[in-house]
Amino acid sequence: MSALEIHVFLCRKDNIGVLVHAEDGTTAAIDAPDAAAILAALAETGWSLTHILVTHHHGDHTAGNLELKEKTGCRIIGPRGEAARIPGIDDAVDDGESFLLGGHRVEVIGTPGHTMGHVTYFMPQDRAAFVGDTLFVMGCGRVLEGNHEMMWLSLSRIASLPGNTRIYCGHEYTIANARFGATIEPENALLRHRLEEAEQRIADGQLNVPTLLDQELQTNVFLRPHNIATRRRLGMGAVADWRVFGELRERKNKA
Ligand SMILES: [Zn+2]
Repeated sequence: MSALEIHVFLCRKDNIGVLVHAEDGTTAAIDAPDAAAILAALAETGWSLTHILVTHHHGDHTAGNLELKEKTGCRIIGPRGEAARIPGIDDAVDDGESFLLGGHRVEVIGTPGHTMGHVTYFMPQDRAAFVGDTLFVMGCGRVLEGNHEMMWLSLSRIASLPGNTRIYCGHEYTIANARFGATIEPENALLRHRLEEAEQRIADGQLNVPTLLDQELQTNVFLRPHNIATRRRLGMGAVADWRVFGELRERKNKA
């Protein structure tokens, strides 16, 4: 099977737009933050939109749904648990299900916490995961509808994917995340190095998405609540990982 082509671009202020293009012409947008930005990306690539894969119901991920559907006739796939809140949805999918996108397998992984029905789309043959607002580069989404334990389980599910999986997330929040992470793990040299790299990329007008899961496991403090130095710094001993995760999430909320 030849490789999937993936095009990443900025939408709105800090949303990440993603187009996934298979060799048979099938082209999916991951979420639809903004119809105009996605139409511009389609014009630039010469691809024709056939699908939108929605990760969760928030407006900055679905605002372009109806206009794109009207202009391209695309099918909209989204999480069953939030189907009533996703404009124009055609096919509802849920955890454990899978489907083919232009001959490429897509596995649906339930990742609730940011919203209750949030899903991640994982393409195992292509080593790509579209994680919406669950995991960010060196950060994670806010826990808006679920709780810390639920969000930690969702992050753990993403963390257990193959280490060479490319992670496509919903926002470019890399600098703020990495600066916060460096206050939690000041001894983490790779984290500091990635912060410098990320700052350079932003200065050059580039994005920090996608990221590699292996790199996140080494530098994303929200995936590292087991880290002894972190626990010492937070004054937390032998408690469950999700409790340390929850403390980190609360601190980031106030940062
Ligand atoms: Zn969101």
